[in-house]
Amino acid sequence: MATKDQSELYACTFPECNASFATQGQLKRHKKSTPEHDYCGICDEDFEDDQAFLIHKIESTKHIVCPMCSKDFRSEEGQQLHIKQVSVNRYTYLVIVALTSSRPMRQNKIFDVSAAAKSSSVPVD
Ligand SMILES: [Zn+2]
Ligand SMILES: [Zn+2]
Ligand SMILES: [Zn+2]
Repeated sequence: MATKDQSELYACTFPECNASFATQGQLKRHKKSTPEHDYCGICDEDFEDDQAFLIHKIESTKHIVCPMCSKDFRSEEGQQLHIKQVSVNRYTYLVIVALTSSRPMRQNKIFDVSAAAKSSSVPVD
């Protein structure tokens, strides 16, 4: 006895949310404007949590993002400048490498930054 009206609506794809909308556009706008929904409006993808969303942004070529604070940038220059400005410690560096290991191109770019940070304080065994 499922109500037919409901199946014609665009239900929110987040399991904890019961909202539904008449159009897909309304649904997208809802997902974008709901802070609890980790939704990428650029790629039209849902994510389980902000961590998964951050990894998506790091891995996707459609996004330029700081792996440490998930700040978005319009250009890779802006991103690189920002990363150089924040202090990169060894732990953060390892996290970046782990997150970006599937993207060799990006990994190399971040490698440059960490190499510069390493040279300033290297605990050699
Ligand atoms: Zn929702
Ligand atoms: Zn995306
Ligand atoms: Zn940052």
